[in-house]
Amino acid sequence: IVAVTELRKSFGENHVLKSIDLSVAQGQVLALIGPSGSGKTTVLRCLNGLEIPDGGRVAFRAGPSVEFGRPVSRRQLAALRDRSGMVFQHYNLFPHRTVLENVIEGPVQVQKRPKDEAVREAEDLLRRVGLQDKKDQYPHQLSGGQQQRVGIVRALALKPALLLFDEPTSALDPELVGEVLHVIKELADEGWTMVMVTHELAFAREVATEVVFMDGGVVVERGHPDQVLRDPREERTRQFVHRLL
Ligand code: ATP
Repeated sequence: IVAVTELRKSFGENHVLKSIDLSVAQGQVLALIGPSGSGKTTVLRCLNGLEIPDGGRVAFRAGPSVEFGRPVSRRQLAALRDRSGMVFQHYNLFPHRTVLENVIEGPVQVQKRPKDEAVREAEDLLRRVGLQDKKDQYPHQLSGGQQQRVGIVRALALKPALLLFDEPTSALDPELVGEVLHVIKELADEGWTMVMVTHELAFAREVATEVVFMDGGVVVERGHPDQVLRDPREERTRQFVHRLL
């Protein structure tokens, strides 16, 4: 569904992504793992146009294909953003808008869809994650797990081809992690295509169809979750997973 080739990104002298190649097929759940600072979040942000890479290409099948390293238009970035829905580590909900207003913002303001239709769909999605009775509340009135479920619904409301999760449970109290992982697992079972940055290796093993281990701005190893997490080929992967599992 999307192919990333030779993606490069530096912040000053910090060469965060050196040359990343990644492809995600329809229905695939790709778990991106690696040490802190290895560039996982930056990959997601480049995929949906929140960050402009220094070079390389992001190409969606039957969608936008953007070549970086040359001037890139706002329209191209908007086209990338339209393909993917991002779920952030810290939810990033609008604090002064209700749950429902948060969810319909993208469909109505960005995608110019009719408001009544967006509201109906938002209510359906909120019901699916057990939050129908929270739609008129404000984010601060919800638990972290509830806020993150709203974050997921907000991404789904855009009907993206690809869902991007950036450590969706790492800001949550341990007892709230399960409810969010449960929703993500259901989405995976429904066949959503997703890329998920996560430190939850047990969850990655259960849900991912492929695990990609990044370190030092490159993909060190990728493969079936059982192989990468239980019997890594590379020494760097082995050290990383043994520390976490
Ligand atoms: P973590 O698991 O800690 O979230 P990560 O693998 O997701 O790490 P990134 O967040 O992609 O790593 O960051 C990679 C590097 O890029 C880090 O050294 C970070 O400080 C740097 N970096 C990221 N965004 C910026 C930015 N906007 N400006 C400057 N440096 C940045």
